[in-house]
Amino acid sequence: MRETWILSCGTELTLGQTVDTNAAWLAGQLAALGYRSVRHVTLPDDAVALRETLLQAAAVCDVVLLTGGLGPTVDDVTREALAAAAGVPLEVHPPSLEQMRAFFAARGREMPARNAVQAQIPLGATALPNTCGTAPGIGLRIGGKACYALPGVPFEMRAMFVQCVAPELRGTAAGEILLCRELHTFGLGESDLGVRIEDLMRRGRNPEVGTTAQFGQVDIRINAAAPTHADAEALLDQTEAELRHRLGAVVFGREADTLASVVGTLLLAQAWKLSTAESCTGGLIGHLLTDVPGASRYYVGGVVAYANEAKADALGVDRTALAAHGAVSEVVAREMAVGAARGFHTECAVAVTGIAGPDGGTAQKPVGLVYIGLHTPAGTSVCEYRFGPDAPRDVIRLRAARTALNLLRLALLDPAAGCCRLKPQGHRILPTIFLMFG
Ligand code: AMP
Ligand code: MG
Repeated sequence: MRETWILSCGTELTLGQTVDTNAAWLAGQLAALGYRSVRHVTLPDDAVALRETLLQAAAVCDVVLLTGGLGPTVDDVTREALAAAAGVPLEVHPPSLEQMRAFFAARGREMPARNAVQAQIPLGATALPNTCGTAPGIGLRIGGKACYALPGVPFEMRAMFVQCVAPELRGTAAGEILLCRELHTFGLGESDLGVRIEDLMRRGRNPEVGTTAQFGQVDIRINAAAPTHADAEALLDQTEAELRHRLGAVVFGREADTLASVVGTLLLAQAWKLSTAESCTGGLIGHLLTDVPGASRYYVGGVVAYANEAKADALGVDRTALAAHGAVSEVVAREMAVGAARGFHTECAVAVTGIAGPDGGTAQKPVGLVYIGLHTPAGTSVCEYRFGPDAPRDVIRLRAARTALNLLRLALLDPAAGCCRLKPQGHRILPTIFLMFG
């Protein structure tokens, strides 16, 4: 495959004040065009460093992509660096100057004098029209290699890449393209999952399979290289089928699917409604559910019952049970779930009560102890989790919220059995659970 370097320019990037999202987006686009992105370099607004890196990149790769530093202010040095690397002077590009004047005129403003510098491009370079902003991009050759400089503002950069760069690169890769697909899993740790698919993750295999883990979710990325789009899709289909075969219900979706969106689809299939009762997650499950457009078709509402009083008043949790077992207990999680389903008139409910830390843990009830109550028409169950006494508060909360959604998903996959068949990995389902309800 032909290779590209992506250079991201801006002192705000190297100082870590802005996260470089341009390189990630460009790498994905380039892969689909048959160009493998082999290096990302982040540079400050420094014309000398930029010129040197441009020359270095042009010496070893096929196409150089660069974003940022095309603005009108003195710290924007990409134009000078490109001209220096190509060994040519900068010159004004009159059509770009006209386009910028028109851009300001359309907004009822006169163009500030300083913007004129944005119409300068290296001699012999091509101006790439900017349909969303002022600065044109620049296409030129450095050391015989194609180099494209695009704006830093992400939406301007994307539009220019799609309109000006992709059409030039399409079909030129002479060989292979790289397509990527992502599967999402929940319920198996990254190392356990890795063992099950070890042979598929062997380096040098095509498609290449890799995993990334965060907050209990493990994503599997499949990268397929093939001469055509159709061939790459076929390779992706084969590997996806093999992964699903090996991992079963651990795979919950692909691409833009989330636990919440998948739960929504499963609820719609049963025409069941859902409510939530949250303590330590403070509404996070409701937030994740309502991130999905159209969630009102199945999500009715929830209660954030943080204090014991709220658990009793809003959800009908028995005060004696609260006093006897404490708020973080199996019995309270169960009563919270049942109380939500009753109060909101829903077939299903999830409830979470736990100790998110960093304080409040004891030897018997350490930080990270979480009870998740689940109610479906098949019954009510409670699962106990220990997300770790040393895990940060936000990690415990997000893991608890995601785990609750995942338990609901598993229960909905087999609606007749509901939560009665749950076997969460490494955690226990409390035995006293199957209260038939309704
Ligand atoms: P510039 O073209 O360098 O003037 O950048 C304009 C704005 O785009 C900057 O203020 C940043 O907020 C944003 N930006 C620049 N480069 C990137 C990048 N690589 N990723 C995300 N945002 C960027
Ligand atoms: Mg900048």
